[in-house]
Amino acid sequence: MHITTSTFTGNRYDILSVASRLGLHVERNKCLCPFHSDKHPSMTFRANYFRCWSCGVHGDSITLVRRLLGLSYGESLQWLDGNGIAGAQPVVLEARASEVQKADRVVDFSTYRYLFDNPILTDVAKRFLFDQRRLDEKVISDLRVSSNHSHLVIPYFAEDGDSLLGIQWRYLGNDSRVPRFNFARGSKPVVYNLPVFGCLESSEKLYIAEGTSDCWALLSSGKKAVAVPSATTLAAASSHFQRVQKHKNLHIFPDRDMPGENLFIQLKSLAPQIVRHQLPPGCKDFAEAFVRFS
Ligand SMILES: [Zn+2]
Repeated sequence: MHITTSTFTGNRYDILSVASRLGLHVERNKCLCPFHSDKHPSMTFRANYFRCWSCGVHGDSITLVRRLLGLSYGESLQWLDGNGIAGAQPVVLEARASEVQKADRVVDFSTYRYLFDNPILTDVAKRFLFDQRRLDEKVISDLRVSSNHSHLVIPYFAEDGDSLLGIQWRYLGNDSRVPRFNFARGSKPVVYNLPVFGCLESSEKLYIAEGTSDCWALLSSGKKAVAVPSATTLAAASSHFQRVQKHKNLHIFPDRDMPGENLFIQLKSLAPQIVRHQLPPGCKDFAEAFVRFS
């Protein structure tokens, strides 16, 4: 896809595709405005422009990206291009359908570089992370968690703490049709918080969580922790775990459900010395226990 710069550049991108990629749920050309606390959809989309009738914010696709992700003009163009957003005209759309699908398949992680270097926490995200989950602000900022008004945007870094290997979205809304977790296409199956392996003392305990939320809760309670979001991830990280296992320092609070039990069984076969801890009665995972007892 090529970018040509003209006064109307922002209008070359289909604003509904852009809005959807930004996590806005547009129905009948309307959605909740992400720029103010909106109870009824005040943001409307018309003629490839957006406008909020309540707080007055308005503009084209580029303005929407710039304002919502906090990017510069050039970075917004890169983001649009990297996300395979189709051009506005139906003719162009049709001609490029196959190209757009191809571009849609893999996310260009370099377009997220800026976002994770300058993470944004929206009010929705802050409420979820700090009010509901009571997580430590430093933990979230060290892990460079970012957000838009409906999703957390979670980077998976390599052990060097710098190379981006994967991106995960965590939906914060109440629409049951939207998947809670989603990986960006092209993400590698890796353990979350890999950099921790580089700063683990030989006598230190490492806790293994099933997901990022439990991992954040473990870290917020002062423990060292990683998350293993899938079985493929586990296989890819086995050498790391075996290294820690030598020092008999792997620990786990299995979730009180089948996936939790399965993860424990898999880890046990990989690292037989793993120490199992029991969650307090009535708590299904560590994140819940953390909220209840912190
Ligand atoms: Zn508004």
